[in-house]
Amino acid sequence: MEKPLACWKGNDYYKGDVLPSLTIILKTGGCRHNRCRMCSYRLERYTERTEDHLASLLLSQLDWISARYALDEIPMVKIYTSGSFFDAGEVPPVVVDAAAGLFRGKVVIAETRPEFVEAGRLEEFQARIDTGEWKTPLTVAMGLETTNDFIREKCIDKGFSWEDFLAAVREARTAGAGVKAYLLHKPLFLTEQEALLDMQQSIRTVSGIADLVSMNPCTVQRHTELEYYWKLGAYRPPYLWSVLSLLISAPVFVTCDPVGGGRSRGPHNCGKCDHDIVSAIRDFSLSNDRGLLKDVFEKGCSCRDEWEYVLSREMPYSMPLTR
Ligand code: SF4
Ligand SMILES: [Zn+2]
Repeated sequence: MEKPLACWKGNDYYKGDVLPSLTIILKTGGCRHNRCRMCSYRLERYTERTEDHLASLLLSQLDWISARYALDEIPMVKIYTSGSFFDAGEVPPVVVDAAAGLFRGKVVIAETRPEFVEAGRLEEFQARIDTGEWKTPLTVAMGLETTNDFIREKCIDKGFSWEDFLAAVREARTAGAGVKAYLLHKPLFLTEQEALLDMQQSIRTVSGIADLVSMNPCTVQRHTELEYYWKLGAYRPPYLWSVLSLLISAPVFVTCDPVGGGRSRGPHNCGKCDHDIVSAIRDFSLSNDRGLLKDVFEKGCSCRDEWEYVLSREMPYSMPLTR
């Protein structure tokens, strides 16, 4: 039996409740874009050429999930594919249909690039999972990363525009689906301060448009362009102080899972204060209680001065952004 790249049970905050959730990362035909500077997920893909073979490998992963988890007890499922769940070239339609059958009656959040958000396909999927229990059974999650087209293009190489994202949101709304936006805090080439300002602006701009906003502090994944610069000392993941200050001052509830928090490849401070801050951010994401964040921010640490110094004194490298 094929296994997904990852699959784990957890909890998620959803409209005032905490729901048990299953997060699934399916191995697929791979992301069609396949270029983002910080992404290593795109390297995990099947190279099978025929749609039938690819479909059988994916269906086998769904079998593995249903054999291993008591799905009846899990009301929410988040599906990631290291690309786009609704790209028929990456996930054959027969697999999308099978997933809809398997996760019928649940809240489903499925990740996709905006170019694959098409009202008809979403309606079909939603009709299959909908049992009338949830007002919005399907939410499409898109890695918008930033609302700034220049940063998305030059620092990430994401390959779509803010306008493309808005068009996808319109398609999702036509289908009656919800929208979740993922933002990337501190992509390559930005100073700590530039990254902070970019996220402040992005959260403000997207908050009236997406139903759910999640911010990913950037981590250095292996075999990526970002890792190349990190090894040269030309990139540092964001300070957890920056992450805290963004979450505290955001005009809406922004969830955050600081993957790799406290490690040199992930968002980190000095090493002494990291653990408590990462825990506070995780607890906040399940409770929307900003008091938890304010407590650790105010408790401080000697490295908070360093962060403030970096914010005010770090200069852009003046590295050429084009060849
Ligand atoms: S679109 Fe997503 S999966 Fe594809 S390369 Fe970019 S970050 Fe990776
Ligand atoms: Zn510290």
